[in-house]
Amino acid sequence: MIFLLSLWLSKLLSIIISACKLGQASNFPGKVALLITNDFLTHFKFNKEIKIILITGTNGKSTTCGLLCNILKSAGCKVITNKAGANLLSGISSTLSFHSDIFGNIEEKYLVLEVDEATLPLITKFIKVNFIAVTNLFRDQLDRFGELDTTAKLIEKGINNCSNATVILNADDSRVAFLKANNKKIYYGINRVIPEGSPLNDKIWLNDPQENTVCPECKSELVFTTKLMAHLGNYKCKQCNFKRPEPDFAVSGFKADDLIINFDISSNSFSQSKNNFFLPMIGLFNLYNALCSIAIAKTILNVTSVQIQKGFQSYSTIFGRGEKIIIKDKTAWLFLIKNPTGTTEILKTLSTVPNARFLIAINDDFADGRDVSWLWDARFDILSNHKKDIYVSGKRAEDMALRLKYANIHQDKIHIQENIVAGMNKSLKSLDSSEILYILPTYTALLELQRKGICKAAPKD
Ligand SMILES: [Zn+2]
Repeated sequence: MIFLLSLWLSKLLSIIISACKLGQASNFPGKVALLITNDFLTHFKFNKEIKIILITGTNGKSTTCGLLCNILKSAGCKVITNKAGANLLSGISSTLSFHSDIFGNIEEKYLVLEVDEATLPLITKFIKVNFIAVTNLFRDQLDRFGELDTTAKLIEKGINNCSNATVILNADDSRVAFLKANNKKIYYGINRVIPEGSPLNDKIWLNDPQENTVCPECKSELVFTTKLMAHLGNYKCKQCNFKRPEPDFAVSGFKADDLIINFDISSNSFSQSKNNFFLPMIGLFNLYNALCSIAIAKTILNVTSVQIQKGFQSYSTIFGRGEKIIIKDKTAWLFLIKNPTGTTEILKTLSTVPNARFLIAINDDFADGRDVSWLWDARFDILSNHKKDIYVSGKRAEDMALRLKYANIHQDKIHIQENIVAGMNKSLKSLDSSEILYILPTYTALLELQRKGICKAAPKD
């Protein structure tokens, strides 16, 4: 009975929040329900055939989740998912409460949730899940999670709660591939070396010194035959037998330009060897996200290549992760930045765009992580040959300017404007007609632009 009361209250709150346009009700209703019933999630009654899929990891959760949902939808499935960023217990509780009937019954057959790493064990304690995918493990918000080992242990605990779940792991990430679990494992990875003559074939892509790459078994150094980004690649240990597992789903070749990525997948699950997918997104990190979404979709349901491709094409980017906006006849793109690796990957990709200009907006509110020392681990030196002025904005604009100075960018080229909207207007004004502004904001800086109506709606509560 208490469950039903908290469910109804949570449903009522979402109606009020939506009716009064107070936000997307993606967290608050669930938060209230959990205050009343702390095992709220255990009481939902799922469709007997339901497949529950959780996606966790440092980077790429939202994008992978979005791509997977679109693939499933293009295969005619009805899917429930959580809104971008609502990946804590409260967000997931809100999602289930919203989609259930008034007795807590959920009829849909697919539940796809992006889950924060630390929240994974909490969810799997309450819900029996069928699949858990782990995208990667990077340093992210150290002030929240502590060291990477702690994060890996949380994920292991989450997986161990569900011994029957199949886990889908990134073989190219040594920390993910060797998470300790007795579950059935499916691996995905990129087999191809970096294409000759491609802008990706640059020293920058081969060496990210800030990521440690030691053997999880014996702590010796790992050697790489291919390194694609940060510590991801084909590795083996110098001392023991530890090596990258053979992927069940492997990208066998890819070509990337500044708008799309073309790629092939080799897997026993596909009858043809050349499937020629194209992804309307940029960056190698998105190739990993697409690959992960394919590995999950193929594992849970035998989707066809055509359905996968349709899913990719219908995918509109998740809030702030590569969103195009037109302001005063000028073009700008928004890319959320939040940790060193993600930021470095975005910089690598954008540095190959000929007419790129930059506005970097750094806040240090709770949702951004209070500690901005991660700026020193991101490879801003990639911009050191950038010819044009760079604008910095946000509460920590000064820190950002200092970071750029140490990345060998002359201080005359760095413009500081703490107010983000003013920073954006100034940088737009300085563009000539052929140039594109790339805005790289942290989460709350992005929210500020959203509140001013400059970009797409974001979760507000
Ligand atoms: Zn070893």
